[in-house]
Amino acid sequence: MQLNLVLGAGKSGLSIAKLLLEKGEAVLIADDKLSKLPEEFNQYPLCILYSRGLKLDLAEIEYKRVIKSPGLPHTHPLVDKLSQKYFMYSDIEIAYEYAQDLTFVAITGSNGKTTVTKFLEHIGSPMIVSAGNIGIPLSEVVLNYENKIVALELSSFQLEGIKTFKPKVATILNLSPDHLDRYYDVNGYYNTKLNVYKNMSKEDTFILNTDDIQLNKRIKNLNASVIEASLAYDKEIHIDKGIVYFNEVELFKIRDLKVVGTHNIFNAMIAASMAYVLGIPVSQIQKRVSSFKGVEHRLEFVLEKEGVSYFNDSKATNPEATEVALRAFSHNNIHLILGGYDKQISFDVLKSYQDKCKSIHAFGQTKAKIKKLFNEAIVSETLDEVIQKLSPAKGDVVLFSPACASYDQFDNYEQRGHRFKELIT
Ligand code: ADP
Repeated sequence: MQLNLVLGAGKSGLSIAKLLLEKGEAVLIADDKLSKLPEEFNQYPLCILYSRGLKLDLAEIEYKRVIKSPGLPHTHPLVDKLSQKYFMYSDIEIAYEYAQDLTFVAITGSNGKTTVTKFLEHIGSPMIVSAGNIGIPLSEVVLNYENKIVALELSSFQLEGIKTFKPKVATILNLSPDHLDRYYDVNGYYNTKLNVYKNMSKEDTFILNTDDIQLNKRIKNLNASVIEASLAYDKEIHIDKGIVYFNEVELFKIRDLKVVGTHNIFNAMIAASMAYVLGIPVSQIQKRVSSFKGVEHRLEFVLEKEGVSYFNDSKATNPEATEVALRAFSHNNIHLILGGYDKQISFDVLKSYQDKCKSIHAFGQTKAKIKKLFNEAIVSETLDEVIQKLSPAKGDVVLFSPACASYDQFDNYEQRGHRFKELIT
């Protein structure tokens, strides 16, 4: 019996191992940090944890397939060696191959993926369930559900490892530079995103954001039926006098939305259109769109204290996301908190928003880079220190929208957002 090698035993790695074991496959799991498998794996005699971690000698064994965690870079010596001989599957591809009676909606892009995925699930629940990069491994859904529509959030790392994955409906929300620590150049990152539609055909629907220049420049060999969407122009999905339409069908009124910012009007537009294409009744779409309150850590209003409004946008892990948050405010009384792990990307796009800010704070690994761009930035080592130095006045906004990943000082952006909320309450 041939072995499946699962590289990386995070949430998605363990979950895909479990799915394979349930299907009677043999699995070898390797991870640098895990010394013991969770107890539930004791029931599978065909499961082995390689005790020495991600060592090169793993490349000496023959495998049926190799499934790589999206977090493991190609430059890892073992990944590099194995990829000379094997295709590096993502858990998405393998789970997809075992999925029966599930319909897939794929949502990718640089920003807005989680919001649109959650929005779509909210509109279509209980028929639509969410999975993927959102934190719920697809293999878990495949093991537990039948006859559902899966709103699947896909990162570029997950899209690197697909072969036959074919969604019924898909979109690339937007393209902006990100993850330049993992890709050779920006084209490598953009091209991976385009993988999402490579297996789609005429009977499938791709929703195209015609407002995004980078995206429209790159789209090619798209065989799906295309539905165009625009915030500004008269496309199939468009806005007229505050109402979002799919051709002549009214999907929702903008004034009914609970989420703030133009980007969220766009997110609502895409989620509602996807639901419409999937056959969710218009009356349900209209009702549910207006009851969606947004997602934690994404321009989340936390509290008002002594007349100061605090927003937690910890999920803004690149400058474009921070730019979007800054644009959502019309006033120029923002105390902006920036900084975190250095992904080697430029913060220049933020320069033109300087006038909107009463103060700019920089912390973490990127603090010096930020200080270089904004002379007057107040520099701190940690987020705790930033909060101590804040001195907002009544009517001001404190915006924690760091424009960086969190890994220099936190496990993830959720932990960072929770810390921010703890510190201000
Ligand atoms: P992702 O899952 O792609 O990282 P999220 O939905 O978690 O995206 O949102 C992260 C941040 O990206 C938000 O806080 C917001 O600042 C920004 N954002 C959300 N939607 C959009 C959009 N449609 N276009 C541009 N930026 C967006």
